[in-house]
Amino acid sequence: MKIGSVLVHCCCAHCTAYTIEHWRRQGYKVASLWYNPNVHPYMEHQRRLEAMHSLAKNLEFPLITIEGYDIVDYFRRVVGDEVNRCRHCFNIRLSKTAESALRMGYDAFTTSLLISHQQKHSLLQEVGDNIAREKGIEFLYADLRKRYSDSRHITKPMDLYRQQYCGCVYSEWERYSDVKIE
Ligand code: SF4
Repeated sequence: MKIGSVLVHCCCAHCTAYTIEHWRRQGYKVASLWYNPNVHPYMEHQRRLEAMHSLAKNLEFPLITIEGYDIVDYFRRVVGDEVNRCRHCFNIRLSKTAESALRMGYDAFTTSLLISHQQKHSLLQEVGDNIAREKGIEFLYADLRKRYSDSRHITKPMDLYRQQYCGCVYSEWERYSDVKIE
């Protein structure tokens, strides 16, 4: 029985694989949306997107991509408030997902970020719930962190590109140095 339809914001192929599976198992009609202007530099963004296309083909789910690369918008929001950059980042990506879901007639939206141990989980939930209230569409929450290994199990044989840092230049700097931006 179909419960409804959900548009899943996808951050990368490895987090998306089991996330799609999870919502399918709950009975949802699932599609994914790529919108990640927080991934720098541009060629890194393209490599992650290419991996997403391969995953979507393999697992046979629709992948919607938002035209353009809103890096300028990302920096306009973040510069001067770097310490809160993840809040801005989640807001940019999940707002676009909710707006797209509403426009395309989906019943709900969610994100593959909920499967990652690297993300600020309670902040994600707070941002998702706020957007849901503001825009009038349901945000589907699930703590999928224990299922990340299932996601990797799915993607491993596909040999997809796997990123080494979260996405923004700040996270890349933190990944390869002792710096912690606070
Ligand atoms: S660390 Fe990750 S979630 Fe936070 S702003 Fe950078 S890309 Fe976005």
